[in-house]
Amino acid sequence: MSKAFILKSRPVGKPVLADFEEVEVADLPLEEGQLLLEGKFYSVDPYMRGRMSDQKSYIPPFEVGQPLAGGVVAKVLESRAEGIHPGDYVLGMMLKWQTVQAVWANEVQKIDVQLAPPSYYLGLLGLTGLTAYFGLTRIGKPKPAETVVISGAAGAVGIAVGQIAKIMGCNVIGVAGHKSKLTYLKEDLGFDAALDYHDLDKLEKDLHKAAPLGVDIYFDNVGGELSDRILKQINHGARIIICGQIALYNETSKAVGPYPQVPLLINSALMKGFIVSDYVDSFHEGQMQLIKWYREGLLKGKETVVIGFDKLPQTFIDLFDGKNTGKMIVQA
Ligand code: NDP
Repeated sequence: MSKAFILKSRPVGKPVLADFEEVEVADLPLEEGQLLLEGKFYSVDPYMRGRMSDQKSYIPPFEVGQPLAGGVVAKVLESRAEGIHPGDYVLGMMLKWQTVQAVWANEVQKIDVQLAPPSYYLGLLGLTGLTAYFGLTRIGKPKPAETVVISGAAGAVGIAVGQIAKIMGCNVIGVAGHKSKLTYLKEDLGFDAALDYHDLDKLEKDLHKAAPLGVDIYFDNVGGELSDRILKQINHGARIIICGQIALYNETSKAVGPYPQVPLLINSALMKGFIVSDYVDSFHEGQMQLIKWYREGLLKGKETVVIGFDKLPQTFIDLFDGKNTGKMIVQA
């Protein structure tokens, strides 16, 4: 028997532990072409909140009563597939929140654990890093000396965006919610400024001080009123990258913005949303670039690791309370 987490009920507002249930699942015999995997590192991601609601999106909702699923790095226990052996580590982006599971070999890719810690393939060197890379380079198109502002800056995507923007010679300003995160962004990652968002009037003044010439690129992970305040300070020809809107994911009342039309209009600015899979044809190129920067020491990983498979639901919920710096991971 193995353990799994199922979605017990669809959350209303912020998810609570009662929305999840741990169940026992009987192991099935392995078929030809399958692998038996033991989950080692589980990714918890804000986008999963959207899948917990029964709404149309770019990915179908989770079914109530069925296991949750997401990015998992697993160790191969048994293999009935060519080229993959017991002891290998693999990455799957849609593996169940289940301790041991059988999957088809084409659902996972082998990863090189000599190159980087295995969990980095869930963050900096995986979809998170690719989200930062493609959002910033393909939509933001940064030029040296431009000012880039990032909301959710100390999270998994945010720290990658800021570091890539620094590599590209930009003036980088991160917006985040805890003093320790602001210190980390400035002292460890070399951001030019890091600003707290809890008092939005103060944020506006602090942003004006940090970016007296205005904002050329806004990489938005958060949305809501915070984004309205930042949009007030964009420059002519600014690019606004809509990566995430975490401030709105648990909203039960009418959406509170952002209201971008006027700043976009008067600045001839571009605002574009994207899903990382839009760039699937270029994933290899993107991953090679991220690995190169990582090996050169230009890109650093940062994780908040919580130990224990049983902690998966709480760790997911904690994303909405800002408990992570960098990528939030559960280690089994
Ligand atoms: P993070 O690691 O950034 O974790 C979430 C962080 O968001 C928290 O630590 C918290 O930091 C901040 N946060 C939570 N609630 C709020 C709020 N109400 N207002 C302001 N900040 C809040 O997650 P990811 O880096 O994985 O994802 C960042 C964003 O990118 C998400 O919106 C996600 O949905 C999106 N995303 C989009 C993808 C795409 O393809 N477009 C792919 C991957 C992610 P703090 O302490 O600073 O408040």
